[in-house]
Amino acid sequence: MKSAAITLDTGADGIAVATMDLPGRPTNLVNDELMTALAQLVERVAGDAAVKGLVLASAKADFCAGGDIDRMSAWTVPQEPYEASMAMKAVLRRMETIGKPVVAAIGGHALGGGLEIALACHARIVLDDPRLKLGQPEVKLGLLPGGGGTVRLARLLGIQAALQIVGEGKDIAPAQALAMGLVSELAPDRAALLAQARAWCLAHPKARQPWDEARFRFPGGDSRAPAVAQMWALAPSVAATRTWGNYPAVTHIMSSVFEGGLLDFDAASAVESRYFAACAMSQESRNLIGTLWYQLNALRKGASRPAGVPPSKVARLGVLGAGMMGAGIACVSAQAGIEVVLLDTTVELADQGKAQAQARLDKAVKKGRTTPAQRDALLARIRPTAAYADLAGCDLVIEAVFEDRAVKAAVTRQAEAVLGADAVFASNTSTLPIGGLAQASVRPRNFIGLHFFSPVDQMPLVEIIVGRETADETLARGFDYVQQIGKTPIVVNDSRGFYTSRVFATYVMEGIAMLLEGVHPRHIEQAGLQAGMPMPPLALQDEVSLSLSLHVIEQTRKDLEAEGRTYRPHPAEAVIRRLCEAGRVGRKAGRGFYDWGDDGRRLWPGLREWYPPAAAQPAQRELIDRLLVVQANEAARCLDEGVLRSVADGNVGSILGWGFAPFHGGALQYIDAVGVPRFVERARALAARHGPRFEPAANLVRLAASGARLGA
Ligand code: NAD
Repeated sequence: MKSAAITLDTGADGIAVATMDLPGRPTNLVNDELMTALAQLVERVAGDAAVKGLVLASAKADFCAGGDIDRMSAWTVPQEPYEASMAMKAVLRRMETIGKPVVAAIGGHALGGGLEIALACHARIVLDDPRLKLGQPEVKLGLLPGGGGTVRLARLLGIQAALQIVGEGKDIAPAQALAMGLVSELAPDRAALLAQARAWCLAHPKARQPWDEARFRFPGGDSRAPAVAQMWALAPSVAATRTWGNYPAVTHIMSSVFEGGLLDFDAASAVESRYFAACAMSQESRNLIGTLWYQLNALRKGASRPAGVPPSKVARLGVLGAGMMGAGIACVSAQAGIEVVLLDTTVELADQGKAQAQARLDKAVKKGRTTPAQRDALLARIRPTAAYADLAGCDLVIEAVFEDRAVKAAVTRQAEAVLGADAVFASNTSTLPIGGLAQASVRPRNFIGLHFFSPVDQMPLVEIIVGRETADETLARGFDYVQQIGKTPIVVNDSRGFYTSRVFATYVMEGIAMLLEGVHPRHIEQAGLQAGMPMPPLALQDEVSLSLSLHVIEQTRKDLEAEGRTYRPHPAEAVIRRLCEAGRVGRKAGRGFYDWGDDGRRLWPGLREWYPPAAAQPAQRELIDRLLVVQANEAARCLDEGVLRSVADGNVGSILGWGFAPFHGGALQYIDAVGVPRFVERARALAARHGPRFEPAANLVRLAASGARLGA
């Protein structure tokens, strides 16, 4: 049989191999085309007495990558996701009850709907490749598995394991999947994969799912079993400490697994579909899909890269400054196979930078994330030096020396003296405008900002800053390098603090300003977490260090005054200055807004005396709003001023750069979701109470009048 999406080939042993190969797509996706083809072939296998069993395989690199997000995004009313989910389940239910063995032969990723198809098979045999991923990642896009995932996992592995797999959405490697009982066998290679699947069919002619046996019991008990009930007593509060109630999918997943654990298979399936529909219709899911699927994919495909410049690769990289950032940049680059020259003022300092990289890799070896051989090969690619001559032949140099204009200018000149004419020179400055730094360069067209985040090995984003003179080719090469090391690039125009540091600072400064107004510090910190930010503002300021912020504030004031512009101090500055004068400069000193000890952090009791909490405290909702509105408004200003070149850069940069509440879909999507006119009204009300920093950005005022949105 040949359908467009699945081909069926029955062997002499009576085992039919169905190969999924959705036409015109790089991967197999769960959509109408695939499910219709699957439904037809199941009927054919059921009705053909010569066929003894069915093996489900894939002709693509993946087994099946999951649901078709385009289809989901077109749903407008809850009936659509509900019916789509129920229709998929009908096919899968029929497949597992045709009275013949069905085996999934999984040679590539089986994720989301792909794993759900495999779960409806009587056995899963998986290629033993540690890069292969299994899992239910739906929660990351604000969804839950709507193809029976919560129902079958709970019945296969137990309620707690199901909750973990679906609630956390983590990838599962084949060996781990075998250990937990998610898959039946591993196969050493592709030929063995099919042979084992066929053999399984022949050995289990009467295969049935455990949940179709009369004496079926949930492994570990159903939702009423004492141990499980005890887990249910805790699960919601444990989840709340992570989500603060901002992720309805997490709640719906718990409800679906809990209720499913009290019901029979069919009723549990219908319940899951209802919760799936609720997730699919939620604003949170739309926000997550819009930014972390569509916009992120567009950026990764090069939406912000100048077209027409041929792709490039860095073979040899120079890193100036072997401090915390330089060592990190050297390490992630060497990891991508790039030869790295790591330069500092002395060979000892350069060696220390390499030692930092080694320490990180040693940890990774201990945790089994890399092998000693891989570590050694990586380290062999990093060459510490104090001699500029060693930079000869580098196609890219990144400076990560002290945040000091004179030091940066000196290293730029010294490096350029030995570099080839077309080498790119990049600065990892976090605050100094690129145009100013490029003045030290004899080829400002080749000068660019590559702003990494700390810790470099963990943070997924690099902010590329385009100076006034930066050439398109330089931008394209910077972009290609960022992708070469596996990070996501956003591209912004030059300005003080660029995009990420500038907007991130408004969050921290707003939290500090609240102190001055007599808001209890605990309420401030709570509001930051409730807003969905990864860290509360005062703790974050301690991490960044108050002295560093004060240094940036002073530098900004001097620069603006030198340009003849008026400097408007933020109310929070007085607080930062006062703490710094008392030596409370942050975590590195063990004291800032908090006292930092080995056993964690505690708010400094003296803060209450310096900034006594007012008798009447503002509503928590008001604090949360302020912390979000101030960031979103600043992001809109960045777009209005042309610092941001696209809404996608703004949204993705805010989530990947400083962790802006992901369920809002990023700092600009937050405005679109609220509605521009409502946002403008809210910002004006906050400006009347708290000052002009809340005055809505000019583009928002214009959009509010025209009824348009920021995003497409
Ligand atoms: P760091 O103090 O840890 O490292 C700076 C290194 O530069 C030191 O090893 C120093 O010896 C070396 N150095 C100084 N002068 C030099 C010279 N003339 N030639 C060669 N090496 C020289 O600082 P860091 O935190 O790694 O920051 C480096 C740069 O990265 C700064 O511009 C900083 O603003 C920027 N940055 C820092 C962070 C962060 O979180 N720390 C984040 C983004 C960007």
